[in-house]
Amino acid sequence: MAFAASLFSAGLVGGQQLGNTENRAYTHVEYLVSIAPRFAGTEAEAIAASYIENEFRRYGLEAWSENFAVQNSYLIEENRLRVISPEQFELKFVPILYSPSAENVAGKLARAVELPENYEQLQKHFVLIDRGKLEPFVGGMGEELPLAILTYYDKWPAYFEPPWTIQLKVPLLWISSWDAERLIELLKQENVEVELQFKARAENLISQNVLALLRGRSDEIIVVGAHHDSVMTPGAVDGASGVAVVLEIARALSTENLPRTILFATFGSEELGLLGSAAFMREHAENKIVAAIIFGSIAAGPENGLRVGLLDSGSYATTEWLDFFIQDLARNLGFYVKSEHLSAIGGYSDHVSFTRAGVPATWIFWANPKSGKVIWPIHTLGDNLDAVDNVRLEQTASFGVQLVRWLAGQDLEALRLAYEYPLLLAAFATLGTGVVVLSIAAGSFLHYRKGWSWSQAVWVFSIVTAAMLVVIYLLVLA
Ligand SMILES: [Zn+2]
Repeated sequence: MAFAASLFSAGLVGGQQLGNTENRAYTHVEYLVSIAPRFAGTEAEAIAASYIENEFRRYGLEAWSENFAVQNSYLIEENRLRVISPEQFELKFVPILYSPSAENVAGKLARAVELPENYEQLQKHFVLIDRGKLEPFVGGMGEELPLAILTYYDKWPAYFEPPWTIQLKVPLLWISSWDAERLIELLKQENVEVELQFKARAENLISQNVLALLRGRSDEIIVVGAHHDSVMTPGAVDGASGVAVVLEIARALSTENLPRTILFATFGSEELGLLGSAAFMREHAENKIVAAIIFGSIAAGPENGLRVGLLDSGSYATTEWLDFFIQDLARNLGFYVKSEHLSAIGGYSDHVSFTRAGVPATWIFWANPKSGKVIWPIHTLGDNLDAVDNVRLEQTASFGVQLVRWLAGQDLEALRLAYEYPLLLAAFATLGTGVVVLSIAAGSFLHYRKGWSWSQAVWVFSIVTAAMLVVIYLLVLA
């Protein structure tokens, strides 16, 4: 309990620990989950946005929404999958994006263990197949199509996987491995009949960002953001938890007069490719945004789960110097904290829209490395209320309040230099030493092999060394 002690003594942890049973952050998650899935551009997403806008207003902040277009979203009107014989029960599922509709279809279930020699046998059947064998199965399908394909992965809830690049001819539906096992058991004994009512279509829709302004003493802006949309899941961890944290930070700071202006933002359509934050950056290119802090995916997990920053050799990384100082602050507040590599997360968030535009930005989340995934159970039907831990949420919100207050008054350029200068100095020292060693070697060569006098060799190479050091200094440090 090393990290919690100083938090409690500093009075930073709100909610339960201090006898406040309101659990405000958790209440936001509960509401957002109750209207899920909040998929890009859908009505549920718009309802989430207006809830958030109203909350910001309740805290006395100037709040508004900004609309943007979403090409090719996916609207589900009806989705019911049932076993009707020999038992009757519902199967929860997540469709793979852009699966076509299948209205009022019923048929026998068949399990595909091997690739079928003859797909004709599977016509008018529901096919149950392990996710590992799905690609070759779908690739081998000709004109004889099954009614729908149910897929699953060992010991996993139903999962929302990235859309396939090929056009799907029948619905591909993820179910949980536990439901799949139940179906496999039933199939051992008798015929299993399944019924599906699935109506969905791709459509261009309107999504929105919600913004709230806390005017500071300067017009330099720090964005404090999260995303309110979800994939086809309850989206409790991803992204309701982040929204809850942003709302709580906004509430706590709403009456403060900070050196910089804070713009609270919850973005829409993050899951379809950071669409909301990209639209925000286009809309606010003229504003003086000096940094962005993105909160997201705050799950239950170990007490050493606070993470600040994403490492990546490509363009998904957060800003290293900003991560460094925020982690430092977190440690001073008693947290254990580190960053994670993109490969451990398998994804990124809205910070990328900011770093792409040259704005320093980071991503703050809480690791829950169950099932080998650092931010388990995002993008599965397990991402429900049970996956969010009230205490983690309150701790992250309390940390966020301290962080935003601190960041609002920092000389960011000085922080960047303070972080980068020692690295540059080390680079200069290394290169400088290299130049001197090379000069001595070259001087010795001229003296011993070419017959130059020592004074000639030293004179020439002193000048060359000095010139190269100046060049290196100008390139590295100036
Ligand atoms: Zn996500």
